[in-house]
Amino acid sequence: LEEQMRQVQKMEAVGRLAGGVAHDFNNMLGIILGHADMILEEMDPDQALYADLTEIRKAGERSADLTRQLLAFARKQTVAPKVLDLNKTVAGMLKMLTRLIGEDIDMAWIPGEKVWPVKIDPAQIDQVLANLCVNARDAIADVGKVTIETGNIVFDEEYCKEHAGFVPGEYTLLTVSDNGCGMNAETLENIFEPFFTTKESDKGTGLGLATVYGVVKQNNGFINVYSEPDHGTTFRIYLPRHRTKEVRWPDKEAIRPAARG
Ligand code: ADP
Repeated sequence: LEEQMRQVQKMEAVGRLAGGVAHDFNNMLGIILGHADMILEEMDPDQALYADLTEIRKAGERSADLTRQLLAFARKQTVAPKVLDLNKTVAGMLKMLTRLIGEDIDMAWIPGEKVWPVKIDPAQIDQVLANLCVNARDAIADVGKVTIETGNIVFDEEYCKEHAGFVPGEYTLLTVSDNGCGMNAETLENIFEPFFTTKESDKGTGLGLATVYGVVKQNNGFINVYSEPDHGTTFRIYLPRHRTKEVRWPDKEAIRPAARG
């Protein structure tokens, strides 16, 4: 738990710092990009300097992308938790996620049966799935498969004794797995650290999984990772079951109190 607290505090500090810098930096980038545009408009594309200026513009665009990601990470987004059926939320995102991973990679969607409701901001689910799917895509060299799955799981005392950080209870499970390059032990140890990345600097910020971790912790959930080099990676996210008084599923325990009135 102490380790988790430390991680969350560190992320907040990094977030604040990065957010402040990103904001001012973004304004200056706006000026650079604006002037580059003005010059480009005046220039004949055949001129020798046109290509150089286009490169400057492209680099500026990439920097702007990066600062936008930093700002999104740093922004203390006000969350609006709602009671959700994860199957519906995921199904609604599937088209976007399929486009995100590209047509060379298969997407498999395996909704669990009677998945327990969770209470979370749907935008956070979007964020989590988008980050995990982008990572899965980047881990796959050319062809491969990303699988998204949901389900229910109960952790008992015994399980939690053996798995540090887990708390007994009922959880809704969201799994994203890929058959990509996997991770070695050293990478695995660092993946949730803000700014840890093994990707080229114009591809990765190292904030994706730090964000996922933050979202899961904020919602009293857990995350674990199984990864094997050359075989693939599975991220499992456990979110606490949301209990409502209304009868959502016609299962025994829900019907009994309702029948009594
Ligand atoms: P970024 O994607 O910007 O590098 P992340 O925090 O999302 O930042 O990921 C950190 C690192 O974790 C990645 O650079 C990569 O090395 C590793 N990683 C994350 N997801 C996967 C995956 N599905 N397969 C293999 N490696 C992964």
